[in-house]
Amino acid sequence: MATGRKLMRAIRVFEFGGPEVLKFRSDVAVPIPNDHQVLIKVYACGVNPVDTYIRSGTYSRKPFLPYTPGLDVAGVIEAIGDNVTAFKKGDRVFTTSTISGGYAEFAIAADDTVYTLPEKLDFKQGAAIGVPYFTAYRALVHSAHAKAGEIVLVHGASGGVGLAVCQIARAYGLKVLGTAGTEEGRNIVLQNGAHEVFNHREANYIDKIKKSVGENKIDVIIEMLANVNLSNDLNLLSYGGRVIIVGSRGPIEINPRDTMAKESSIIGLALYSSTKEEFQQFAAALQAGMEVGWLRPVVGPQYPLEKVVQAHENIIHSSGATGKMILLI
Ligand code: NAP
Repeated sequence: MATGRKLMRAIRVFEFGGPEVLKFRSDVAVPIPNDHQVLIKVYACGVNPVDTYIRSGTYSRKPFLPYTPGLDVAGVIEAIGDNVTAFKKGDRVFTTSTISGGYAEFAIAADDTVYTLPEKLDFKQGAAIGVPYFTAYRALVHSAHAKAGEIVLVHGASGGVGLAVCQIARAYGLKVLGTAGTEEGRNIVLQNGAHEVFNHREANYIDKIKKSVGENKIDVIIEMLANVNLSNDLNLLSYGGRVIIVGSRGPIEINPRDTMAKESSIIGLALYSSTKEEFQQFAAALQAGMEVGWLRPVVGPQYPLEKVVQAHENIIHSSGATGKMILLI
């Protein structure tokens, strides 16, 4: 409880654990931006699976307690700290990270993690850009070195990252195959750049993919659930094919021999291993996508801040993704 300072609504985590450790508070002090920081009035914040891993305390990066989760905010600059030249009060922005936490009415972010949000995208869409699109771009362009004309399988295409990969891959001239677990998800995947879509809950869908494109024809796989799919992925790849592991929630057994004849690559990805220069490069490509119009974030389930516990339950135990989950602040 703070006195003498403006107060705001925010989610606070006082101990690591299940979704129930997310506590709604209306007496959190509005933070003040320091050097090279901005204060953003938050209208929407993306919910990312990583928010749940961090909250549970099992993730490699642990914040000091108590903390407010949330990386991808969209809103308006409320105030700037010293030495901020790129932004002024009133600018519409989105972020790829925050310092004080995005599940709140106001959030502090370092100025090099803040980007201009074009007028044609609303704040909900703005909250769906950060982690998903920067991850998608890193996976496809930086890690996989995907080239126009290649075939990409977006293994898990209906969520935040998957739809972003579909849009980018289509704009870059790849043939795009996606997978999703529900009919609604598959329709959204087809509307967002995929040429074909498959049901990853169907027993024989891998055979259907092979039947559609031929044996050993997939150049790049962007993998959202490697602990389930990695062995199958190796059997789908072309010679010189690459699997980029974006998501994995456990171990899996593979046969290393499956990588030998085709000289396949299995490449792990961590968005936050990107350098500042790489973030700037990804941002430039994505800004172009917003200007030209191929970057169109798909907003899925929306929850008010007070319902954050439900949001964290549902993003992990989803009955089927239909775009990016966001919190409305
Ligand atoms: P999301 O919005 O919750 O989407 C999850 C996706 O996984 C959905 O498309 C879902 O499809 C799909 N999926 C479910 N079962 C699957 C299966 N058997 N095979 C393939 N896909 C399956 O999550 P997200 O934000 O897109 O993130 C996806 C994953 O990437 C998460 O594990 C996240 O932690 C990770 N990630 C990692 C990084 C990094 O830096 N490495 C960055 C961002 C995200 P249906 O719901 O239609 O079944």
